[in-house]
Amino acid sequence: MPKSALNQVLSHLKAYRAQHLEEAKEFLRIPSISALSAHKGDVVRAAEWLKVRLEQAGFANARLEATRGNPVVVASSAIRLGKPTVLVYGHYDVQPVDPVESWHHGPFEPTVEKNILYARGASDDKGQVFMQLIAAEAWQTVAELPVNLKFLFEGEEEIGSVNLSEYIRDHQADLAADLAVISDTPMYDQGYPAVSYGLRGLAAMEIAVHGPYQDLHSGGFGGAVMNPAHALAHLIDSLHDATGRVSVAGFYDQVDDLTPEERDAFSRLPFDEEAYQNELGVPALFGEEGYSVLERTWARPTLEVNGMWSGFTGEGQKTIVPASAHAKLTCRLVPHQEPNDILQRIEAHLRMHLPPGVRLTINHTGGAPASITPLDHPAVKAAESAIESVYQTPASHIRMGGSIPVVVDFQQMLNMPTLLIGFALPNENFHAPNEHFHLENFYRGAETIATLWQKLGENHG
Ligand SMILES: [Zn+2]
Repeated sequence: MPKSALNQVLSHLKAYRAQHLEEAKEFLRIPSISALSAHKGDVVRAAEWLKVRLEQAGFANARLEATRGNPVVVASSAIRLGKPTVLVYGHYDVQPVDPVESWHHGPFEPTVEKNILYARGASDDKGQVFMQLIAAEAWQTVAELPVNLKFLFEGEEEIGSVNLSEYIRDHQADLAADLAVISDTPMYDQGYPAVSYGLRGLAAMEIAVHGPYQDLHSGGFGGAVMNPAHALAHLIDSLHDATGRVSVAGFYDQVDDLTPEERDAFSRLPFDEEAYQNELGVPALFGEEGYSVLERTWARPTLEVNGMWSGFTGEGQKTIVPASAHAKLTCRLVPHQEPNDILQRIEAHLRMHLPPGVRLTINHTGGAPASITPLDHPAVKAAESAIESVYQTPASHIRMGGSIPVVVDFQQMLNMPTLLIGFALPNENFHAPNEHFHLENFYRGAETIATLWQKLGENHG
């Protein structure tokens, strides 16, 4: 029986493992640290390296495109009607390496020990970018790609993707696709390869409570005016009930409840609450009743005070009634909460609960919606089956509690869902000394991605 195209692709990847490792090391030797201007040339060199390697992989149109900052590297396969189009995003820049003396090997001298590759960028994200590249190359070598592929690799992720939104906005047609795939995140744990299908959103505001024109002597005036610090404390306290649930009217109205399938998937993940509590150094965990820690941090909204300040905080005593009190608040949002709606509801709540004798100013400082690709979405199903066929273990379904701005851009400007399918492990020291990547997951990651393209192509047909 002739080998299927996918089997030939997987054989190709296995046959070239040694060469792929050497090439990954070559890419990792370029110190593409975006935060340091001294490495500006290295950042461009990494972009050039990637472009040339994409050309070798059969993407003749690979090119650098200028932004106000570091270039993006883009490439695409032939776009054939009837096939799904996938936009693959990653980044070729890396974090600084300080403290460099804590590294066991030079951060830009990639070294393999016990089947683990050590280097800055090994897992975040050059190793995973290269993994994407060789998966596509294997297809290009053996047979026609089952999907149309577009690559978008940026060089400013580690400095906040400062120019990426503008690039995406200006190239919406070029980047249009049915789905975005990102390999820049960890799996749940060793042995738990995962599809990450949701991210929380964000809404932020700063509030200030104003009393007298200036700080007052508390002996002369204390008792005659409302103290802004007391008023702020009252406002903050009014935001939650004693169980930790947000008291703002309508805050939970639009929240998508977890489905039974999701709760079941999360509950199957190993999670040691006691170890988690000890690691954090808290005497007890606290959160919304009726939800596990994973559910609270991945799929429930929050309202947090990030900072508050007022009055005299220096050494000794200064007996004043402060003129004002301030706080910064942010919410983590879940689908389908709308950032502006939530900020307005909080503002209305604060104004309603404001004690007499003070004024309140509120500054909405931004927000981004949550994103989710439902578990029954064909792309999630395809990723699940690709993971299972390569790892021979059921795929885990996870969400992430934070936000990834590029995912919001893809959702809002390109109107496409994103799958986060990363092969790093949570403890591989991203952003820290001795960053590493388990080679097993580098190789199997490439095989999983190659299989994913097959599954997405099949589903579409
Ligand atoms: Zn990264």
